[in-house]
Amino acid sequence: MEKREERYRGKAKTVYATDDPLRLVMHYRDDVSAFDGAKLAKLEGKGETNNRINAFVMGKLAEAGIRTHFVALLNARESLVEAMKMIPVECVVRNICAGSMAKRYGIEEGRRLPEPIFEFFLKSDALHDPLVNDDHIRVLGWATQQEIEQMKALTHRVNRVLKPLFADAGIDLVDYKLEFGHPLDDLHGELVLGDEFTPDGCRLWDAKTGEKLDKDRFRSRRGDRALPRSRTTHRRAAVTRRTADAMA
Ligand code: C5P
Repeated sequence: MEKREERYRGKAKTVYATDDPLRLVMHYRDDVSAFDGAKLAKLEGKGETNNRINAFVMGKLAEAGIRTHFVALLNARESLVEAMKMIPVECVVRNICAGSMAKRYGIEEGRRLPEPIFEFFLKSDALHDPLVNDDHIRVLGWATQQEIEQMKALTHRVNRVLKPLFADAGIDLVDYKLEFGHPLDDLHGELVLGDEFTPDGCRLWDAKTGEKLDKDRFRSRRGDRALPRSRTTHRRAAVTRRTADAMA
């Protein structure tokens, strides 16, 4: 496999073509972004940690029979994935109320939900990823009814694998975002999990202390204000590493 030209530069990953049109290289950078790219920074070691966490989670999902686009870890920062045609919506499952749901409905963060809640969002930074329902997606042609049902079923299946996995590591899986698509060589088959599963796209709280172990630390600069500058980078990297180590 030979890595070729840059195809797409996202907020934290760069995607490269390879000599195989059905395979891409995902390169995890040290960039961290929030609020649709309005807040940007660099976090040393983040790319390597996220590449490792993603490979670990994708492996666990594959073991559970959930098909993902992940093919192989290539090196510290890069993984090989299947090239996909993505559905332009984000699938969120919430086990504990937090973030936009807490704000939208005026519910306190931290309320444990009696069963997981599923939400669809349109993937659009310009529109700040608005909440959408099944009708918007089907009638406006972003996905078929069958794809909508598959996205919901697969996102709940992922929850049944990952919630206990994190719980065993002493971490509450509060919520997360998934994206699905069709591999380019199988455009009409079952949907496949794409993108990534890392602390950039989920909320992880220490089950005992409630400490936030995910990107919300960056969104709110939690803890860092009180720390001298020299300790800040070290502290952030340590939290992300702790998440990776707890799961390894
Ligand atoms: O912001 P909100 O509470 O809706 O986010 C729900 C979950 O989806 C969080 O874990 C967040 O990190 C993730 N998310 C994401 N990318 C987005 C929007 C949300 O990874 N564009």
